[in-house]
Amino acid sequence: MSAQAALNGLYIDGQWSAGDALLQVISPVTEASLAQVAGGGAEAVDQALRAATRSFARWSHSSGAERAVVLRRIARGVAERRERLMHLQSSNNGKPQFEAAMDVDDVIATFDYYAGLAEGQDQAQDAEVALPSADFGARLRREPCGVVGLIVPWNFPMVTTAWKLAPALAAGCCVVLKPSEVTPLAELELAAIIADSGLPDGVFNLVCGTGLAVGAPLAADPRVAKISFTGSNAVGVQVMQRAAETVKGVSLELGGKSSLLVLADADLDLAVELACGGGFFNAGQMCSATSRVLVADELADDFLLRLKARAEAIRVGDPCDPEVAMGPLVNQAQYRRVLAHIERGLNVGARLVCGGGRPAGLTQGFFIQPTVFTEVSLDSALWREEIFGPVLCVRSFSSEQEAVALANDSEFGLVASVVGADLDNAERVANALQAGLVWINAPQVIFPQTAWGGYKQSSIGRELGPWGLQAFQELKHVIRAL
Ligand code: NAD
Repeated sequence: MSAQAALNGLYIDGQWSAGDALLQVISPVTEASLAQVAGGGAEAVDQALRAATRSFARWSHSSGAERAVVLRRIARGVAERRERLMHLQSSNNGKPQFEAAMDVDDVIATFDYYAGLAEGQDQAQDAEVALPSADFGARLRREPCGVVGLIVPWNFPMVTTAWKLAPALAAGCCVVLKPSEVTPLAELELAAIIADSGLPDGVFNLVCGTGLAVGAPLAADPRVAKISFTGSNAVGVQVMQRAAETVKGVSLELGGKSSLLVLADADLDLAVELACGGGFFNAGQMCSATSRVLVADELADDFLLRLKARAEAIRVGDPCDPEVAMGPLVNQAQYRRVLAHIERGLNVGARLVCGGGRPAGLTQGFFIQPTVFTEVSLDSALWREEIFGPVLCVRSFSSEQEAVALANDSEFGLVASVVGADLDNAERVANALQAGLVWINAPQVIFPQTAWGGYKQSSIGRELGPWGLQAFQELKHVIRAL
């Protein structure tokens, strides 16, 4: 695509326009240009914030029922463009078809769910508060916190956007969204759907651009009441520092280094399947990757043999091919970063069980084989740092206490998985893990009703569920003398 054909990268106050910052969107499969997007910088952020601030006066006073109508229209619009959105996620992100479909369905479910919560708010608004005194009465209001900035990453672009945007609109907030400069195409399509949804102009604004040009001024601007950020810890810290200058609210969804625990009574086939899902879904580019696999001593040899066979059988290739189970990494920087981690692991003596490089026959694209290491030292980067690629580290344990201690020995605490036949025991282990979400004998299913977020340096706050809505609300009590 030529520079003249660059896509408009700004949607502000109901109008599409082109900024002067040209973003190159690259195909992770062919390494060629997919599109150019004309994004913006501080000036576009200023215009978007002016529109959002102006529109807040009206949108913040709309009823939950009115907001629900728009949210449901957005959900239907996404459903109508399901194929197109799947294609964009496959071509821009490298997601296999079944994963792209799951993402789009998640977005639909999230908008529908928050439509329901928005309606529910109308009944709950001004609820009387029981007081221990007959001389006073009190009521509780939940009001939108103001104009909010939403900054999202490239690994689940539409999903991370929906988890912020749907509750923000349901709460009555006005929004400036900054997608990742690596994967703006799905959000551009989503913005086109929103433009047709009947949402008043200026309530939703989109500014494509780089982190420094768009994200940094958004995080610093005093007109922004709250920043909701998903991305790396390094950038999350910068966002929090900028937000601190004007005491903004922040919600952060950051990194992880999560564990899958295979208990002594586990079904091994299930454990292998869940290990592959937790490590290789989205080519391992998941904050929730269970990249540390802890296996009971007595199962460890058998598990490793089966995991190697299963990992080697995963079909890696063009994500638009419906037979393909794992696509490429998102871009060259991520590809190099993951290969450097593998190299470093080998240099410090970790044993490579399978994978470790480019799959045979794939001469272009950012492909890396499903990779498994064992004999990984506890102080190595492979064990401690988020790799964000298809790399699993397997280690055995001799007691469940040891397994829990190993899993909890991390600066992160996003998720965990437990595999075991005795459910009471598995539940006890789940209770001992420092993680925001634990799956037992289940793949990483996520529902809009259950919270997303973690302990320690993985998160501040929770998304999804009523907590995701409350993240965009202020509480107000009105107390009167009777
Ligand atoms: P990133 O931190 O590099 O970028 C995230 C977003 O922040 C992008 O839109 C980027 O342009 C913007 N940004 C960059 N510099 C900025 C700055 N100085 N000020 C404001 N904004 C700035 O992350 P990424 O590489 O896009 O995504 C991968 C990371 O995201 C991983 O660490 C992963 O664990 C994390 N993640 C977390 C969750 C979660 O729910 N916890 C979900 C998905 C991804």
